Amino acid sequence: MADCLFCKIIAGHIPADQVYEDEEFLGFKDIAPKAPVHILVIPKKHIANLEELEGEDAPLMGRLQLVLQKIARDQGLADSGYRIVNNCGRDAGQVVFHIHYHLLGGSSRLNLD
Ligand code: 5GP
Ligand code: ZN
Repeated sequence: MADCLFCKIIAGHIPADQVYEDEEFLGFKDIAPKAPVHILVIPKKHIANLEELEGEDAPLMGRLQLVLQKIARDQGLADSGYRIVNNCGRDAGQVVFHIHYHLLGGSSRLNLD
């Protein structure tokens, strides 16, 4: 998707502070962190949001759960805990229309505003 910000990050056309990459997924620090640890985790496949998911994406999105777990562990959050947030559509305040999961941690008061 030529006009997608996160596709441009995946392609390396826009820099990002990456913390994880494999063939299917990318993890990078949110540019405006809302918690001491605020990582965005995305599939490299362009999917606009949860509403666009199809049955064939189920294995991919299942593997994403384990990537979230790995990144959380790598960030030292396994014991303290963490929150996963997905915003889908206008009323949720979705700004970037490439599906992404916010991984938030490092505080007992995780700000969702
Ligand atoms: P949304 O509201 O769509 O769920 O969240 C989009 C997130 O992307 C926001 O938390 C915002 O700070 C982050 N973001 C927007 N532009 C960039 C960027 O260019 N680089 C990075 N690393 N994060 C971005
Ligand atoms: Zn995209």
